Amino acid sequence: MGLQDELRTLQPVVMDLFTQSVMFDRLSHGYLLAGAKGTGKKQIARFLAKSLFCLEPTEKELVCGECVNCTRIDNHNHPDVHFLKPDGASIKIDQVRELKMELTKRGMESDKKVLIIEEADKMTLQAANSLLKFIEEPEPGMLLLFLTENPSQILPTIASRLQPVQFKELSFNQLVERLVSTGISEQKARIYASLTGSIQEVMEYEEGEFFADARNAAIKLYEGLYQTGPNPLIFIQETWMPLFKEKESLKLGLDLFMLLLRDVLHLSLSSEYEPICVGQKDMLVNDALKFSLAKITGDIELVLSAKTKLDSNMNPQLLMEQLVLKVQGGHLFA
Ligand SMILES: [Zn+2]
Repeated sequence: MGLQDELRTLQPVVMDLFTQSVMFDRLSHGYLLAGAKGTGKKQIARFLAKSLFCLEPTEKELVCGECVNCTRIDNHNHPDVHFLKPDGASIKIDQVRELKMELTKRGMESDKKVLIIEEADKMTLQAANSLLKFIEEPEPGMLLLFLTENPSQILPTIASRLQPVQFKELSFNQLVERLVSTGISEQKARIYASLTGSIQEVMEYEEGEFFADARNAAIKLYEGLYQTGPNPLIFIQETWMPLFKEKESLKLGLDLFMLLLRDVLHLSLSSEYEPICVGQKDMLVNDALKFSLAKITGDIELVLSAKTKLDSNMNPQLLMEQLVLKVQGGHLFA
C-alpha cells in the first residue's frame, strides 16, 4: 500500500478533501487540523507539504515519498517548509520572530511556502498575535497548517480564519495496531485500547507501575467475587482503597474490573470470541458457562452505576462495599 492509500485508510474523509483540493488546485490558505493524538495529523500535514513540492507525482500518487524534496520535507530541511512546535511548554514569541526572519531571509526555491504548526493551542498570546498577520493577510502561495488536539483552545481570531478539518478517532483495531507498532505486546494493546482512545494516556500507563498494580487488583477482586479469591470486603478495605485513592484512579480500577465482566458476557454470547483479558481466558470461559446472562448483565449494570455514583461524589469506600454486597446478593447460577 502506498503512503496515500495508507493515510486514506486512517482518515478517508480528510484525505479525500485534501487530494481533491490538491488535484484541482483548490487548497485554501489555512487549515486547522483537529483530532486526538495518533490520528495522523502530522503525517497528513507532511503529505500535503510534499504534494506541493514532490518532483515525481503521478495521477495515483500525489507524493512519491522518495525524491529529494519529499526526503527534505521528512528531514525538516526543505527551505520552503517550516515547522513550529512548543519549545518546552509553549510556542513562544521568540520562536515566531525567528520564523518570520527565516521566511524573509532565506532564498526560496519556489513561490510556495508551507508552515506546519504542531500543538498550535500551546501558543502564548503574544506568539499568536504575532502570527495573526500571516493569517489575516495571507501571502499568495503560503499554506498554513495548524495542528491541535484541543481546537477550542485556539484563539477565535485565528480559528475563524482557518478551515476546520476534523480527524476521526482511531478504531479499536487501528489503535491496537498503533500500540503494537510502538513495541507494546498485542495482548496488552488490546487491554489498553478497550480502556482509552488516547495513545497519550496509554504511554502514561506504560511509564509507571500503577497500571500493572491496578490490573492485578481488578483480577483479585473478580476472583474474590466469583471464584475462591480473597474475601472481597476485606480486600476492598486493605488493598483496593489504599491503591485507588483518587477518583480517577478508582474509575480505572472499575474499568479494569469491567473488562473481565465484558469478556464473560461476550464469551457467553459466542464461543469464538477472543477475550481482551487473554491471561484469564480459562477462568472467564468457565464463568461464561456457569453464569446466567441475566447475572452477567446485571453485574455490569452495577459497575456502571457505581461509576456514575462516583461522579456524584459518593464516598468511594461505601460505594465499593455496596457494589460487593449487591454482586454477592445476586444469584450466581441460572
Ligand atoms: Zn517526491
